[in-house]
Amino acid sequence: MQDCLFCNIIAGNIPSQKVYEDELVYAFRDIAPAAPVHILIVPKEHLCCLNEAKPEHQMLLGHILLTAQKLAKSEGIADSGYRIVNNCGENAGQTVFHLHFHLLGGAQFTKLV
Ligand code: 5GP
Ligand code: ZN
Repeated sequence: MQDCLFCNIIAGNIPSQKVYEDELVYAFRDIAPAAPVHILIVPKEHLCCLNEAKPEHQMLLGHILLTAQKLAKSEGIADSGYRIVNNCGENAGQTVFHLHFHLLGGAQFTKLV
């Protein structure tokens, strides 16, 4: 998607602090970190949000969670704990409409749910 910020980051047209990449996902540091560790994990395939995921994306969605686990280990936050956030749509405050999961850690968070 030409005018999608995260598609352009994945393509290297916009610089990012890459943390990890494989054939399915790209992970990079959030430009405005909300915690000492704040990484965005995005599928290389453009999906606007979780609403657009279909049964064929089941493997991809599982892969994103296992990537989060792997990055939590490599960032040294696996034992202290971390949070994975997906904002879907307006009420959740989604601002970039390319599906992404926030991996947050390195701080004690307020319990939301
Ligand atoms: P959302 O609010 O949609 O769940 O999350 C979007 C995230 O993307 C925000 O945390 C925001 O700081 C981050 N972000 C927005 N623009 C950029 C950018 O150009 N580069 C990086 N690395 N992160 C960005
Ligand atoms: Zn995109």
